[in-house]
Amino acid sequence: MSSGKINPYEVARKQIDIASKYLNVESGLLERLKHTKREVIVHFPVKMDSGEVRIFTGYRVQHDVSRGPAKGGIRYHPDVDLDEVRALAMWMTWKSAVVNIPFGGAKGGVQCNPKEMSIRELENITRRFTWEISIILGPEQDIPAPDVYTNPQVMAWIMDTFSILKGYSVPGVVTGKPIELGGSLGRYEATGRGVVITSLEALKYMKKPVEGAKVVIQGCGNVGGIAAKHFDRLGAKVIAISDSRGGLYNENGLDIKRILDCKSQYQCLICEKEEEEITNEELLELECDILVPAALENQITEKNASRIRAKIIAEGANGPTTPEADEILNDKGVFIIPDILANAGGVTVSYFEWVQNLQELIWSEEEVLERLTRIMQRSFREVLEISLAKKIPMRTAALVLGIGRVAEAIRLRGIYP
Ligand code: NAD
Repeated sequence: MSSGKINPYEVARKQIDIASKYLNVESGLLERLKHTKREVIVHFPVKMDSGEVRIFTGYRVQHDVSRGPAKGGIRYHPDVDLDEVRALAMWMTWKSAVVNIPFGGAKGGVQCNPKEMSIRELENITRRFTWEISIILGPEQDIPAPDVYTNPQVMAWIMDTFSILKGYSVPGVVTGKPIELGGSLGRYEATGRGVVITSLEALKYMKKPVEGAKVVIQGCGNVGGIAAKHFDRLGAKVIAISDSRGGLYNENGLDIKRILDCKSQYQCLICEKEEEEITNEELLELECDILVPAALENQITEKNASRIRAKIIAEGANGPTTPEADEILNDKGVFIIPDILANAGGVTVSYFEWVQNLQELIWSEEEVLERLTRIMQRSFREVLEISLAKKIPMRTAALVLGIGRVAEAIRLRGIYP
């Protein structure tokens, strides 16, 4: 899996250099965009179930707020570090701009292994981390959301802790909350649906039907699992899916409903006799129409890119492909729907949730889905148009669109003083 040597922040900065060739933006401004705006690092104690006190390290990084409040998920993972969070925050800035919603970019994370913790320990970590970073959070300042190994329950604890500090309920401080606490209908499924909507647009552009299309998905969580469900419903054949322990493969198509039920009940994938077990490395190299990396960064690198046999890569995960791998895939003619476009459904419906919270309104699921589809299709079209007009890959085109919008916002606001 991850080589452990590739620094996502360096990748994210390199992407700015690549896109800058097609942007008419002053070099000082580009340099500003290569830096984050604000970084908070906290070390905090948590009392574990054993009575022992352990110290955890957490981060909240705001990359840019020129177009609106900082927005981005919180990740719980043993490998979280400052540079990873910086890169993820930067990608959030471009992503919000690509889908043209009025948010900036942020990200957060706590270095921990949630698989080894009880619910109570997770709650204690979440509440203390929220308290530590609360000085920069708020519906007008910085709004967290779920990411790897965090979920609506974690968002509920963040919202409750922040509300206790304020003395009144502040639902707009997080998105991806449970519906009962002001979460939006359709938010839980939004990222996976967005991956499917943009994949459908790519298939349409390539004049290929979705029925029977072979789909391979790495990661079986919020993004990968939901994408699998919707591809399956649309008549595509999901031939492989994995989690952190490895994957299942059946060239005739997997029984996705059974696999997802099993994953939610037992937190693992269980192999049946018609299926084959495969490693995450093997899964990425399967021949397919659509490959959806939906786990972590740096999965497709210069080491395995030449062996990728997908026609389309729809990046559910953030940063799954390195710039070196991009070059190899572009030469092979693989159509890449880049992360800042493909997985932007999550931040889009997070924006809807925030709007509903501020206005104290509740939209129907149909309304959410209809607006999400419209925004994802429009954004895909805008990126594709730039890609075709400038003869550049889809990732560069998306960066040109996103960075261009952010740079223009900064130019219009001016540099203070
Ligand atoms: P999740 O915690 O719900 O699921 C993560 C999945 O990845 C799990 O199935 C896990 O088993 C698997 N996984 C973990 N390590 C792995 C490894 N080394 N190899 C293979 N699989 C592994 O997280 P998620 O919310 O689905 O996030 C997945 C990716 O999508 C991340 O890159 C995240 O930043 C990105 N993303 C998420 C959202 C969102 O709304 N949740 C939005 C945009 C982007």
